Amino acid sequence: MKSVLFWLLLAAVPGWSETRGATFAPVVLYTQYAQAPPEAVRHALQEEVERIMSPLGFVFEWRDIADPTGQRVSAELALITFEGRCDTGIATPSGKRSGPLGWTHISDGQILPFTSVSCDRVREIVQPILVTSHSEARPGIYGHALARVLAHELYHIFARTQHHGSLGVAKESYSMWDLVDAEFRFEDKESNLLRSTRAAGTW
Ligand SMILES: [Zn+2]
Repeated sequence: MKSVLFWLLLAAVPGWSETRGATFAPVVLYTQYAQAPPEAVRHALQEEVERIMSPLGFVFEWRDIADPTGQRVSAELALITFEGRCDTGIATPSGKRSGPLGWTHISDGQILPFTSVSCDRVREIVQPILVTSHSEARPGIYGHALARVLAHELYHIFARTQHHGSLGVAKESYSMWDLVDAEFRFEDKESNLLRSTRAAGTW
């Protein structure tokens, strides 16, 4: 099994428009954590993923894979594994300046709905911001950063593409600022692609 990888670089934030009125059944996002994150991080993560993707027609139902309740089967789902430690505790940087923030599995050229986010790598990137922020602000900053990496991987899954955009959430490489700036969204081209796959009922 191969992985689609991406990492970091430059910033730019596009214009953004509209919300659509169409409603769709929720996509179930099963989450699996190596270590359960603080509630404030989890909340910020979910909030930011929904802020980015709900205007494109994606409504999510978040389920912990370990929670046996309410496990009705859904045809529209993705499994997200959060690797490493997903809290805002400051750590000594590993010294590795490269490596993926997130990755999605492909098999025989098909994107599979299995994706991973590296909590440790994302924290390492935004740590300069975390250490200079008030402790109450850190879960929000970190949760939003994790969400942007996850939204990028969900784009591969929902748009069923390995391609990247030139700007916005779908671009191949992120800078620290992409992870922490107030606004970060999909460009029109990728927004339209996601909307059309959603509207076609394939997700
Ligand atoms: Zn990618």
